[in-house]
Amino acid sequence: MIVFDLLCGEGHRFEGWFGSAGDFASQCDRNLLSCPTCGSAKVKRVPSATRANLGAPAPKPSSAPVPAQPVKTPDMDGKDPFAVAQILYSRMLDELLSKSEDVGKEFPTEARKIFYKESPARAIRGQATNEQHDELIEEGIPVARLPVPPSDKLN
Ligand SMILES: [Zn+2]
Repeated sequence: MIVFDLLCGEGHRFEGWFGSAGDFASQCDRNLLSCPTCGSAKVKRVPSATRANLGAPAPKPSSAPVPAQPVKTPDMDGKDPFAVAQILYSRMLDELLSKSEDVGKEFPTEARKIFYKESPARAIRGQATNEQHDELIEEGIPVARLPVPPSDKLN
């Protein structure tokens, strides 16, 4: 069985049950369908979520990676939300720094090369002037400004 959402010429919305989509088309062609509210035979199908069991495969679960959720750890217990946010932030920064390649002052060039697929895609970090940063943003290249701890700064 399949359920279609139907709409009559008067704007009444109702459901119709059919053996198949073809069954609906044939009933429609023969004017066998009518609105239960006003009796109008001007009935058309409107898009709806199909609730029928057609034996079709279920939609594939999205394979997109789920962003990592901040994990609450014991060192956060009893701390105020601001302190917890700082811990999470510094942890995120550490992860970013340890997983990205430092390209130093080549950052704007390298970011551009990666964006235009002239360099292998990877996480990079480095320095850019405000102007360079703005140029990258204007070109639609996803870059983010981060306050990098002084110990990590080159030059
Ligand atoms: Zn109607």
